[in-house]
Amino acid sequence: MTAPTDFDYALKLDREDPLADFRDQFFIPEQSGGEPSIYLCGNSLGLQPKGVRADVDRELEDWARLGVDGHFEARDPWLGYHAYFSEQLSPIVGASPSEIVVMNSLTTNLHFMMISFYQPTQTRYKILMEGGAFPSDHYAVDSQAALHGFDPKDAVIKLAPRPGEECLRDEDVLAAIEDAGEELALVMLGGVNFYTGQVFDMGAITDAGHAVGARVGFDLAHAVGNVELRLHDWGVDFAVWCSYKYLNAGPGATGGCFVHERWAMAPGLPRLTGWWGNDPDTRFEMKPEFVPQPGAAGWQVSNAPVFAMAPQKASLRLFNEAGMPALRKKSLALTDYLLTLLDALPAASFDIITPRDPARRGSQVSLKAQKDGKKLFDALTDGGVICDYREPGVIRIAPAPLYNSFADVWKFWDILRGVIGANAQ
Ligand SMILES: *Cc1c(COP(=O)(O)O)cnc(C)c1O
Repeated sequence: MTAPTDFDYALKLDREDPLADFRDQFFIPEQSGGEPSIYLCGNSLGLQPKGVRADVDRELEDWARLGVDGHFEARDPWLGYHAYFSEQLSPIVGASPSEIVVMNSLTTNLHFMMISFYQPTQTRYKILMEGGAFPSDHYAVDSQAALHGFDPKDAVIKLAPRPGEECLRDEDVLAAIEDAGEELALVMLGGVNFYTGQVFDMGAITDAGHAVGARVGFDLAHAVGNVELRLHDWGVDFAVWCSYKYLNAGPGATGGCFVHERWAMAPGLPRLTGWWGNDPDTRFEMKPEFVPQPGAAGWQVSNAPVFAMAPQKASLRLFNEAGMPALRKKSLALTDYLLTLLDALPAASFDIITPRDPARRGSQVSLKAQKDGKKLFDALTDGGVICDYREPGVIRIAPAPLYNSFADVWKFWDILRGVIGANAQ
Protein backbone atom coordinates (compact mmCIF):
# COMPACT_ATOMS: atom_id res chain seq x y z
CA MET A 1 0.00 0.00 0.00
CA THR A 2 1.41 3.37 -0.92
CA ALA A 3 0.51 6.40 1.17
CA PRO A 4 -0.34 9.79 -0.42
CA THR A 5 3.00 11.07 0.83
CA ASP A 6 4.86 8.50 -1.34
CA PHE A 7 5.90 9.65 -4.81
CA ASP A 8 4.48 6.40 -6.24
CA TYR A 9 1.04 7.52 -5.14
CA ALA A 10 1.32 10.66 -7.30
CA LEU A 11 2.50 8.58 -10.25
CA LYS A 12 -0.51 6.30 -9.82
CA LEU A 13 -2.87 9.30 -9.87
CA ASP A 14 -1.17 10.49 -13.07
CA ARG A 15 -1.59 7.06 -14.69
CA GLU A 16 -5.31 7.15 -13.87
CA ASP A 17 -5.77 10.75 -15.08
CA PRO A 18 -7.80 10.85 -18.32
CA LEU A 19 -6.47 14.37 -19.08
CA ALA A 20 -2.79 13.50 -18.54
CA ASP A 21 -1.88 13.69 -22.23
CA PHE A 22 -2.81 17.37 -22.52
CA ARG A 23 0.43 18.24 -20.73
CA ASP A 24 2.36 17.31 -23.91
CA GLN A 25 0.55 20.10 -25.75
CA PHE A 26 2.33 22.78 -23.70
CA PHE A 27 5.85 24.15 -23.43
CA ILE A 28 6.99 23.73 -19.82
CA PRO A 29 9.77 26.22 -18.92
CA GLU A 30 13.01 24.47 -18.03
CA GLN A 31 15.20 24.86 -14.98
CA SER A 32 18.87 25.68 -15.52
CA GLY A 33 19.76 21.97 -15.57
CA GLY A 34 17.24 21.25 -18.35
CA GLU A 35 14.66 19.64 -16.04
CA PRO A 36 11.11 20.90 -16.46
CA SER A 37 10.27 23.39 -13.75
CA ILE A 38 7.40 22.75 -11.36
CA TYR A 39 5.11 25.34 -12.84
CA LEU A 40 2.29 26.24 -10.44
CA CYS A 41 1.64 29.75 -11.68
CA GLY A 42 -1.11 29.28 -14.27
CA ASN A 43 -3.28 31.67 -12.24
CA SER A 44 -0.84 34.42 -13.16
CA LEU A 45 0.38 33.50 -16.63
CA GLY A 46 -0.69 30.29 -18.34
CA LEU A 47 1.84 28.28 -20.35
CA GLN A 48 2.17 28.42 -24.11
CA PRO A 49 0.24 25.76 -26.02
CA LYS A 50 2.45 24.26 -28.72
CA GLY A 51 -0.24 25.00 -31.30
CA VAL A 52 0.04 28.77 -30.87
CA ARG A 53 2.84 29.29 -33.35
CA ALA A 54 0.88 27.74 -36.23
CA ASP A 55 -2.13 29.96 -35.50
CA VAL A 56 0.01 33.11 -35.48
CA ASP A 57 1.96 32.00 -38.58
CA ARG A 58 -1.30 31.47 -40.41
CA GLU A 59 -2.23 35.14 -39.94
CA LEU A 60 1.28 36.32 -40.84
CA GLU A 61 1.12 34.26 -44.04
CA ASP A 62 -2.34 35.56 -44.93
CA TRP A 63 -1.20 39.13 -44.39
CA ALA A 64 1.87 38.54 -46.58
CA ARG A 65 -0.20 36.85 -49.28
CA LEU A 66 -3.28 39.05 -49.28
CA GLY A 67 -2.54 42.44 -47.75
CA VAL A 68 -5.76 44.33 -47.18
CA ASP A 69 -7.81 41.60 -48.85
CA GLY A 70 -7.22 39.48 -45.76
CA HIS A 71 -10.17 41.26 -44.18
CA PHE A 72 -12.38 39.20 -46.49
CA GLU A 73 -10.20 36.47 -47.91
CA ALA A 74 -7.94 35.30 -45.09
CA ARG A 75 -8.61 31.70 -44.10
CA ASP A 76 -10.32 33.21 -41.08
CA PRO A 77 -11.37 36.59 -42.51
CA TRP A 78 -10.28 39.37 -40.18
CA LEU A 79 -13.54 41.23 -40.55
CA GLY A 80 -15.32 38.86 -38.19
CA TYR A 81 -12.23 37.70 -36.33
CA HIS A 82 -13.67 38.29 -32.84
CA ALA A 83 -16.54 35.90 -33.53
CA TYR A 84 -14.38 32.73 -33.71
CA PHE A 85 -13.55 33.13 -30.04
CA SER A 86 -17.15 33.66 -28.97
CA GLU A 87 -18.00 30.19 -30.28
CA GLN A 88 -15.04 28.64 -28.47
CA LEU A 89 -15.71 30.49 -25.21
CA SER A 90 -19.42 29.72 -25.13
CA PRO A 91 -19.15 26.44 -23.12
CA ILE A 92 -16.36 27.88 -20.95
CA VAL A 93 -18.33 30.85 -19.62
CA GLY A 94 -21.82 29.37 -20.01
CA ALA A 95 -23.26 31.90 -22.44
CA SER A 96 -24.42 31.99 -26.02
CA PRO A 97 -21.81 33.20 -28.52
CA SER A 98 -23.74 36.43 -29.12
CA GLU A 99 -23.35 37.30 -25.42
CA ILE A 100 -19.56 37.09 -25.66
CA VAL A 101 -16.96 39.31 -27.27
CA VAL A 102 -13.17 39.14 -27.16
CA MET A 103 -11.73 42.64 -27.15
CA ASN A 104 -9.40 45.03 -25.30
CA SER A 105 -7.99 44.00 -21.95
CA LEU A 106 -9.65 43.34 -18.63
CA THR A 107 -9.54 46.72 -16.89
CA THR A 108 -10.41 48.50 -20.12
CA ASN A 109 -13.46 46.27 -20.52
CA LEU A 110 -14.43 46.91 -16.91
CA HIS A 111 -14.54 50.62 -17.68
CA PHE A 112 -16.58 50.08 -20.85
CA MET A 113 -19.04 47.88 -18.96
CA MET A 114 -19.37 50.29 -16.05
CA ILE A 115 -20.15 53.13 -18.43
CA SER A 116 -23.15 51.06 -19.51
CA PHE A 117 -24.15 49.39 -16.27
CA TYR A 118 -23.30 51.94 -13.61
CA GLN A 119 -25.80 54.72 -14.08
CA PRO A 120 -26.10 56.28 -10.65
CA THR A 121 -28.87 58.58 -9.50
CA GLN A 122 -28.72 60.86 -6.45
CA THR A 123 -30.32 58.13 -4.33
CA ARG A 124 -29.09 54.93 -5.97
CA TYR A 125 -25.38 55.35 -6.53
CA LYS A 126 -23.45 52.82 -4.46
CA ILE A 127 -21.15 50.12 -5.78
CA LEU A 128 -20.40 47.04 -3.72
CA MET A 129 -16.99 45.38 -4.17
CA GLU A 130 -14.42 43.40 -2.17
CA GLY A 131 -12.05 45.33 0.05
CA GLY A 132 -9.58 42.62 -0.94
CA ALA A 133 -10.13 43.07 -4.69
CA PHE A 134 -7.24 43.29 -7.14
CA PRO A 135 -5.86 46.85 -7.11
CA SER A 136 -6.82 47.55 -10.72
CA ASP A 137 -10.46 46.89 -9.83
CA HIS A 138 -10.30 49.40 -6.96
CA TYR A 139 -8.84 52.04 -9.27
CA ALA A 140 -11.44 51.38 -11.96
CA VAL A 141 -14.43 51.36 -9.60
CA ASP A 142 -13.30 54.38 -7.56
CA SER A 143 -12.64 56.38 -10.72
CA GLN A 144 -16.06 55.52 -12.15
CA ALA A 145 -17.75 56.77 -8.99
CA ALA A 146 -15.67 59.95 -9.16
CA LEU A 147 -16.49 60.36 -12.87
CA HIS A 148 -20.15 60.65 -11.89
CA GLY A 149 -19.34 63.23 -9.22
CA PHE A 150 -19.43 60.96 -6.16
CA ASP A 151 -16.84 60.60 -3.44
CA PRO A 152 -15.59 56.99 -3.74
CA LYS A 153 -15.26 56.82 0.06
CA ASP A 154 -19.02 57.24 0.28
CA ALA A 155 -20.11 55.59 -2.95
CA VAL A 156 -17.98 52.44 -2.92
CA ILE A 157 -18.78 49.83 -0.26
CA LYS A 158 -15.71 47.65 0.30
CA LEU A 159 -16.50 44.32 1.95
CA ALA A 160 -14.06 43.00 4.53
CA PRO A 161 -13.89 39.54 6.13
CA ARG A 162 -14.83 39.22 9.80
CA PRO A 163 -11.99 39.97 12.21
CA GLY A 164 -9.49 37.13 12.25
CA GLU A 165 -10.86 35.63 9.01
CA GLU A 166 -9.32 35.75 5.53
CA CYS A 167 -12.36 35.06 3.34
CA LEU A 168 -15.76 36.67 3.09
CA ARG A 169 -18.64 34.52 4.25
CA ASP A 170 -21.35 33.92 1.64
CA GLU A 171 -24.05 35.05 4.04
CA ASP A 172 -22.18 38.29 4.81
CA VAL A 173 -21.95 39.17 1.11
CA LEU A 174 -25.68 38.60 0.66
CA ALA A 175 -26.49 40.55 3.83
CA ALA A 176 -24.36 43.49 2.66
CA ILE A 177 -26.29 43.61 -0.61
CA GLU A 178 -29.58 43.58 1.25
CA ASP A 179 -28.36 46.27 3.67
CA ALA A 180 -27.31 48.58 0.85
CA GLY A 181 -30.79 48.00 -0.64
CA GLU A 182 -32.18 50.88 -2.66
CA GLU A 183 -28.90 52.79 -2.51
CA LEU A 184 -27.13 50.03 -4.41
CA ALA A 185 -26.59 50.68 -8.12
CA LEU A 186 -24.05 47.97 -8.87
CA VAL A 187 -22.54 44.82 -7.40
CA MET A 188 -19.06 44.31 -8.87
CA LEU A 189 -17.28 41.33 -7.36
CA GLY A 190 -14.61 38.91 -8.48
CA GLY A 191 -15.74 35.40 -9.40
CA VAL A 192 -12.65 34.02 -7.64
CA ASN A 193 -10.52 36.17 -5.34
CA PHE A 194 -6.96 36.52 -6.68
CA TYR A 195 -5.36 36.36 -3.23
CA THR A 196 -7.29 33.77 -1.24
CA GLY A 197 -8.58 31.69 -4.16
CA GLN A 198 -12.12 31.93 -2.73
CA VAL A 199 -14.89 31.18 -5.24
CA PHE A 200 -18.02 33.30 -4.82
CA ASP A 201 -21.56 32.04 -5.20
CA MET A 202 -22.18 34.03 -8.36
CA GLY A 203 -25.74 32.77 -8.87
CA ALA A 204 -26.90 33.71 -5.36
CA ILE A 205 -25.10 37.08 -5.52
CA THR A 206 -26.76 37.89 -8.84
CA ASP A 207 -30.19 37.06 -7.42
CA ALA A 208 -29.54 39.14 -4.31
CA GLY A 209 -28.35 42.13 -6.35
CA HIS A 210 -31.33 41.99 -8.66
CA ALA A 211 -33.70 41.62 -5.69
CA VAL A 212 -32.70 45.10 -4.48
CA GLY A 213 -32.82 46.56 -7.98
CA ALA A 214 -29.05 46.71 -8.58
CA ARG A 215 -27.10 45.48 -11.57
CA VAL A 216 -24.54 42.75 -11.14
CA GLY A 217 -21.19 42.29 -12.87
CA PHE A 218 -18.22 40.01 -12.21
CA ASP A 219 -14.51 40.25 -12.78
CA LEU A 220 -13.66 36.72 -13.88
CA ALA A 221 -9.87 37.13 -14.17
CA HIS A 222 -9.30 34.15 -11.87
CA ALA A 223 -12.53 32.32 -12.64
CA VAL A 224 -12.55 31.88 -16.42
CA GLY A 225 -11.09 28.52 -17.43
CA ASN A 226 -10.88 27.65 -13.73
CA VAL A 227 -14.38 27.01 -12.40
CA GLU A 228 -17.58 26.18 -14.25
CA LEU A 229 -19.53 29.30 -15.14
CA ARG A 230 -23.17 29.71 -16.14
CA LEU A 231 -23.30 33.44 -16.77
CA HIS A 232 -26.45 33.32 -18.89
CA ASP A 233 -28.48 31.11 -16.55
CA TRP A 234 -27.35 33.02 -13.48
CA GLY A 235 -28.67 36.16 -15.17
CA VAL A 236 -25.45 38.12 -14.62
CA ASP A 237 -25.67 41.52 -16.33
CA PHE A 238 -22.05 41.70 -17.46
CA ALA A 239 -18.68 40.08 -16.87
CA VAL A 240 -15.11 40.78 -17.90
CA TRP A 241 -11.98 38.64 -17.91
CA CYS A 242 -8.40 38.46 -19.08
CA SER A 243 -7.12 35.58 -21.18
CA TYR A 244 -3.51 35.21 -20.07
CA LYS A 245 -4.17 33.42 -16.76
CA TYR A 246 -5.98 30.06 -16.94
CA LEU A 247 -6.82 30.63 -20.62
CA ASN A 248 -3.13 30.49 -21.67
CA ALA A 249 -3.42 33.12 -24.41
CA GLY A 250 -0.08 34.79 -23.69
CA PRO A 251 1.13 37.93 -21.91
CA GLY A 252 -1.24 40.87 -22.29
CA ALA A 253 -3.60 38.76 -24.43
CA THR A 254 -6.91 40.21 -25.56
CA GLY A 255 -9.54 39.98 -22.82
CA GLY A 256 -13.19 39.07 -22.95
CA CYS A 257 -16.55 40.46 -22.08
CA PHE A 258 -20.03 39.05 -21.46
CA VAL A 259 -23.23 41.08 -21.83
CA HIS A 260 -26.48 39.27 -21.02
CA GLU A 261 -28.82 38.95 -23.99
CA ARG A 262 -31.48 40.98 -22.18
CA TRP A 263 -29.23 43.98 -22.84
CA ALA A 264 -28.39 43.07 -26.44
CA MET A 265 -30.02 46.12 -27.98
CA ALA A 266 -31.49 47.79 -24.90
CA PRO A 267 -32.42 51.32 -25.85
CA GLY A 268 -31.39 53.86 -23.28
CA LEU A 269 -28.36 51.91 -22.08
CA PRO A 270 -25.46 54.28 -22.66
CA ARG A 271 -22.25 53.00 -24.16
CA LEU A 272 -18.99 54.32 -25.51
CA THR A 273 -19.06 53.56 -29.19
CA GLY A 274 -16.70 53.03 -32.11
CA TRP A 275 -17.03 51.78 -35.65
CA TRP A 276 -16.44 48.10 -34.88
CA GLY A 277 -19.52 47.97 -32.69
CA ASN A 278 -21.60 49.22 -35.58
CA ASP A 279 -23.73 46.80 -37.57
CA PRO A 280 -21.29 45.20 -40.06
CA ASP A 281 -23.92 45.55 -42.82
CA THR A 282 -23.71 49.33 -42.66
CA ARG A 283 -20.24 49.78 -41.14
CA PHE A 284 -18.53 50.48 -44.43
CA GLU A 285 -21.18 52.89 -45.56
CA MET A 286 -19.26 55.16 -43.19
CA LYS A 287 -22.38 56.97 -42.03
CA PRO A 288 -22.12 59.17 -38.96
CA GLU A 289 -25.05 57.49 -37.10
CA PHE A 290 -24.14 54.54 -34.91
CA VAL A 291 -26.29 51.44 -35.40
CA PRO A 292 -25.20 48.86 -32.83
CA GLN A 293 -24.82 45.27 -33.87
CA PRO A 294 -26.80 43.00 -31.56
CA GLY A 295 -25.15 41.35 -28.59
CA ALA A 296 -21.85 41.87 -26.83
CA ALA A 297 -20.09 42.53 -30.15
CA GLY A 298 -21.91 45.85 -30.24
CA TRP A 299 -19.60 47.05 -27.45
CA GLN A 300 -16.52 46.75 -29.67
CA VAL A 301 -14.86 50.04 -30.41
CA SER A 302 -11.88 49.25 -32.64
CA ASN A 303 -11.06 46.55 -35.14
CA ALA A 304 -9.64 43.29 -33.84
CA PRO A 305 -5.88 43.07 -33.08
CA VAL A 306 -5.49 39.83 -35.01
CA PHE A 307 -1.95 38.96 -33.86
CA ALA A 308 -2.81 39.57 -30.23
CA MET A 309 -5.89 37.37 -30.57
CA ALA A 310 -4.58 34.46 -32.65
CA PRO A 311 -2.70 32.75 -29.75
CA GLN A 312 -5.97 32.30 -27.87
CA LYS A 313 -7.33 29.85 -30.42
CA ALA A 314 -4.95 27.01 -29.66
CA SER A 315 -5.67 27.03 -25.96
CA LEU A 316 -9.44 27.31 -26.39
CA ARG A 317 -9.32 24.29 -28.71
CA LEU A 318 -7.70 22.31 -25.89
CA PHE A 319 -10.30 23.56 -23.40
CA ASN A 320 -13.10 22.46 -25.70
CA GLU A 321 -11.49 19.10 -26.29
CA ALA A 322 -11.07 18.42 -22.57
CA GLY A 323 -14.35 20.08 -21.51
CA MET A 324 -14.85 22.22 -18.41
CA PRO A 325 -16.57 19.46 -16.35
CA ALA A 326 -13.56 17.14 -16.73
CA LEU A 327 -11.11 19.99 -16.10
CA ARG A 328 -12.95 21.06 -12.97
CA LYS A 329 -12.98 17.46 -11.74
CA LYS A 330 -9.22 17.15 -12.18
CA SER A 331 -8.64 20.59 -10.68
CA LEU A 332 -10.45 19.53 -7.52
CA ALA A 333 -8.52 16.25 -7.44
CA LEU A 334 -5.23 18.18 -7.71
CA THR A 335 -6.09 20.62 -4.92
CA ASP A 336 -7.55 17.82 -2.75
CA TYR A 337 -4.26 15.98 -3.12
CA LEU A 338 -2.28 19.14 -2.36
CA LEU A 339 -4.36 19.77 0.78
CA THR A 340 -3.90 16.15 1.91
CA LEU A 341 -0.14 16.51 1.56
CA LEU A 342 -0.06 19.90 3.29
CA ASP A 343 -2.06 18.48 6.18
CA ALA A 344 0.75 15.97 6.72
CA LEU A 345 3.18 18.80 7.54
CA PRO A 346 3.45 20.47 10.95
CA ALA A 347 0.68 23.05 11.15
CA ALA A 348 2.96 25.57 12.81
CA SER A 349 4.71 26.80 9.65
CA PHE A 350 1.83 28.18 7.56
CA ASP A 351 -1.93 28.60 7.38
CA ILE A 352 -4.05 27.59 4.41
CA ILE A 353 -6.24 30.62 3.71
CA THR A 354 -8.18 29.14 0.76
CA PRO A 355 -11.60 27.73 1.71
CA ARG A 356 -11.65 23.96 2.25
CA ASP A 357 -15.13 23.60 0.78
CA PRO A 358 -14.64 22.29 -2.80
CA ALA A 359 -17.47 24.55 -4.03
CA ARG A 360 -15.57 27.57 -2.70
CA ARG A 361 -12.15 26.94 -4.20
CA GLY A 362 -10.76 26.64 -7.71
CA SER A 363 -7.31 25.60 -8.92
CA GLN A 364 -5.49 27.72 -6.36
CA VAL A 365 -4.39 27.09 -2.78
CA SER A 366 -2.91 30.05 -0.90
CA LEU A 367 -0.50 29.46 1.97
CA LYS A 368 0.18 32.17 4.48
CA ALA A 369 3.56 31.70 6.13
CA GLN A 370 3.59 32.44 9.83
CA LYS A 371 7.04 33.94 9.45
CA ASP A 372 9.73 34.41 6.80
CA GLY A 373 7.28 33.99 3.91
CA LYS A 374 9.64 35.57 1.41
CA LYS A 375 12.47 33.25 2.48
CA LEU A 376 10.20 30.27 2.04
CA PHE A 377 9.22 31.50 -1.40
CA ASP A 378 12.86 32.07 -2.42
CA ALA A 379 13.77 28.56 -1.30
CA LEU A 380 10.90 27.10 -3.35
CA THR A 381 12.16 29.07 -6.35
CA ASP A 382 15.67 27.68 -5.84
CA GLY A 383 14.14 24.21 -5.77
CA GLY A 384 12.65 24.67 -9.24
CA VAL A 385 9.11 25.70 -8.29
CA ILE A 386 7.51 28.58 -10.19
CA CYS A 387 4.72 30.04 -8.07
CA ASP A 388 4.13 33.52 -6.75
CA TYR A 389 4.35 35.59 -3.65
CA ARG A 390 2.14 38.38 -2.35
CA GLU A 391 2.82 40.43 0.74
CA PRO A 392 2.33 39.72 3.58
CA GLY A 393 3.64 36.18 3.37
CA VAL A 394 1.19 34.60 0.95
CA ILE A 395 2.40 31.97 -1.51
CA ARG A 396 -0.13 31.07 -4.20
CA ILE A 397 0.01 27.55 -5.61
CA ALA A 398 -2.11 26.95 -8.69
CA PRO A 399 -2.04 23.50 -10.31
CA ALA A 400 -3.72 23.97 -13.71
CA PRO A 401 -5.51 20.80 -14.79
CA LEU A 402 -4.60 21.12 -18.49
CA TYR A 403 -0.88 20.79 -17.91
CA ASN A 404 -0.07 20.11 -14.27
CA SER A 405 0.40 16.57 -13.02
CA PHE A 406 -0.07 15.03 -9.61
CA ALA A 407 3.70 14.50 -9.69
CA ASP A 408 4.11 18.31 -9.93
CA VAL A 409 2.04 18.68 -6.76
CA TRP A 410 4.06 16.03 -4.96
CA LYS A 411 7.40 17.55 -6.06
CA PHE A 412 6.32 20.99 -4.84
CA TRP A 413 5.32 19.51 -1.51
CA ASP A 414 8.57 17.53 -1.23
CA ILE A 415 10.59 20.73 -1.69
CA LEU A 416 8.36 22.58 0.77
CA ARG A 417 8.78 19.95 3.47
CA GLY A 418 12.54 20.05 2.93
CA VAL A 419 12.54 23.81 3.25
CA ILE A 420 10.55 23.91 6.43
CA GLY A 421 12.77 21.15 7.80
CA ALA A 422 9.94 18.82 8.60
CA ASN A 423 9.26 15.23 7.82
CA ALA A 424 5.83 14.00 6.95
CA GLN A 425 4.04 12.74 10.01
C1 LIG B 1 -5.07 39.87 -13.38
C2 LIG B 1 -6.16 40.78 -12.95
C3 LIG B 1 -6.33 42.05 -13.54
C4 LIG B 1 -5.38 42.54 -14.58
O1 LIG B 1 -5.93 43.56 -15.36
P1 LIG B 1 -5.45 43.88 -16.85
O2 LIG B 1 -6.35 44.95 -17.26
O3 LIG B 1 -5.59 42.61 -17.65
O4 LIG B 1 -4.02 44.28 -16.80
C5 LIG B 1 -7.40 42.82 -13.09
N1 LIG B 1 -8.25 42.38 -12.13
C6 LIG B 1 -8.09 41.16 -11.54
C7 LIG B 1 -9.05 40.70 -10.50
C8 LIG B 1 -7.03 40.35 -11.92
O5 LIG B 1 -6.87 39.17 -11.33
